[in-house]
Amino acid sequence: MKELVALLNQYAKEYYTEDNPTVSDSDYDKLYRELVELETAHPDLVQADSPTHRVGGLILEGFEKYEHEYPLYSLQDAFSREELDTFDQRIKAEFPQASYMAELKIDGLSVSLTYVDGRLQVGATRGDGSIGENITENLKRVQDIPLQLDKPLTITVRGECYLPRKEFERLNNERQESGQTEFANPRNAAAGTLRQLDTSVVAERKLATFLYQEASPTERATQDEVLKEVADLGFSVNPRRLITSSMDAIWDFIQEVGRDRDHLAYDIDGVVIKVNSLAMQEELGFTVKAPRWAVAYKFPAEEKEAELLSVDWQVGRTGVVTPTANLSPVQLAGTTVSRATLHNVDYIAEKDIRIGDTVLVYKAGDIIPAVLSVVESKRDSQEVMPIPETCPSCGGDLLHYEDEVALRCINASCPAQLKERLIHFASRDAMNITGLGPSVVEKLFTSDLVSDIPAIFQLTIADLVTLEGFQEKSATKLYEAIQAAKQNSAEKLLFGLGIRHVGAKASKQLMEAFENLQALSQADEEAIAAIDGLGLVIAKSLRDYFATENARLLLSELEQDGVNLSYLGKKVSADAALSGQIVVLTGKLEHLKRSEAKAKLEELGAKVTGSVSKKTNLVVAGSDAGSKLAKAQELGIPVVDEEWLLTL
Ligand code: AMP
Ligand code: ZN
Repeated sequence: MKELVALLNQYAKEYYTEDNPTVSDSDYDKLYRELVELETAHPDLVQADSPTHRVGGLILEGFEKYEHEYPLYSLQDAFSREELDTFDQRIKAEFPQASYMAELKIDGLSVSLTYVDGRLQVGATRGDGSIGENITENLKRVQDIPLQLDKPLTITVRGECYLPRKEFERLNNERQESGQTEFANPRNAAAGTLRQLDTSVVAERKLATFLYQEASPTERATQDEVLKEVADLGFSVNPRRLITSSMDAIWDFIQEVGRDRDHLAYDIDGVVIKVNSLAMQEELGFTVKAPRWAVAYKFPAEEKEAELLSVDWQVGRTGVVTPTANLSPVQLAGTTVSRATLHNVDYIAEKDIRIGDTVLVYKAGDIIPAVLSVVESKRDSQEVMPIPETCPSCGGDLLHYEDEVALRCINASCPAQLKERLIHFASRDAMNITGLGPSVVEKLFTSDLVSDIPAIFQLTIADLVTLEGFQEKSATKLYEAIQAAKQNSAEKLLFGLGIRHVGAKASKQLMEAFENLQALSQADEEAIAAIDGLGLVIAKSLRDYFATENARLLLSELEQDGVNLSYLGKKVSADAALSGQIVVLTGKLEHLKRSEAKAKLEELGAKVTGSVSKKTNLVVAGSDAGSKLAKAQELGIPVVDEEWLLTL
């Protein structure tokens, strides 16, 4: 197990930190599965730095405040060469021989990581610099943060946690499809992610870090040595940097970085210039807010004027209709931009954007071009933007719900939506039909083999062989995957239907409660809304959906095709021993892994949360339990041990 952990951590480091994998994903998966098997068989031998600690969901109740032992500082800004020269002169007046370290200013959130004897103990946000929030559980889900250092050091390091641009795009596409508001930029997305109470969401969104500071006292003499040491310890450190005593060289570096900015995998908003010598830094000291030994040069936000020529309205899976502007081409942050998002109808109305207008275009999060505003002075009176009343794909009526910023086509058989819906239906969290990805769906759709969900289950091997690129073997494989999906527990099907507001988690809860999709389709709103954590919005959406003839037809067709409509998971009965109890796990358990203890508690009907509060009913404490146990005792909450749980 030790060997596997070391190997997997090494591979993860190559993959996430060094961007230089030496094994294939499937080889990694094989070793990972082997480790999981061993850990399941020998829970008492699970290593502290096992990569399995990075996955697995916890539902946290909130974040506790965390007082930083070493406060975090902010940086003094500079927006021009002159301001940089002023900084340089001030430093050189005191230390004529000073040299600087120039680093990229990563546009994320600062995080502080404290290791005790080499083990990650606390990960916290910056907060106001002296008091932040303890987000350790979430930061453990950030793959490039080591859980265990090679040396048993007690050390606090600082850096920036960010969401890579690719992940940001993926996330926003998903959100747009499900009718959620998109994140404005990767930084907001990263901030939203780090404050998630469901840690599995954090694990899904692939956050990353760049570390740049040792906050605890250090033996190093320069910032350069600090960066090298931090990299040696296994953290990600940004390789792009410059040591020089010349402002001219720094200015060149800034220009160069500015030109490459678009092509980086992450957002930066400037360049930080620090006095390299830590002894000089100490002598220079701090103002009330910021160190005197550093300055942050900030890039100007790139905005350009363009003419808005026309608008395309596109329909997504859930019927959300999104406007995209066609523009006269402009050069923006290194690329030619001729299309930009207008977000939604409300945005257009709020900014009074009209066709023919000269608009300001910018790159949101420096990737997706967006229309920012209208240059009013350049407008010669035009009519207000015509908003479509009917769907560009099917011609059905478009609705503008009060609680939404977008227009929606609610025609269940709208072709544009259908294709997107089929893709969603087959996707992993839904029916999980391996081999039925977007390109195959596209082929099935264009060859008229499938135009609705039930048709998938009527496909024969003979049908599938006719698809471009398919042979007997691949057709059989896909056919079998489709047949296998018929036996899915019904929450996969429910989620796959893509009903507004009904996500994977709600689907599970709904099926646990109603057991059968037919039963759910006839349930009344109050009964649905009464399920813990669901509420009226979901209830109403389900009612609206199942009230349509189409939905009823769909269910009976699926049933005829042999698709399972029942919940096959474990059912928690209302009289389970811990039904409705809020339970917190703390300390080291002897026989059970945390995740196993959690699963057992849930089987007994309990809701397991991450921190102790007045609402907690019970605390299960193992050995070495710390602050949670103390808090439980302080609040007079009953505490039991692992034996108690096992007996139950
Ligand atoms: P500001 O938020 O504009 O005051 O800038 C200070 C913030 O810049 C710090 O709190 C860090 O989160 C962030 N930052 C990003 N990259 C660096 C870097 N290389 N060195 C120092 N701070 C950085
Ligand atoms: Zn439509």
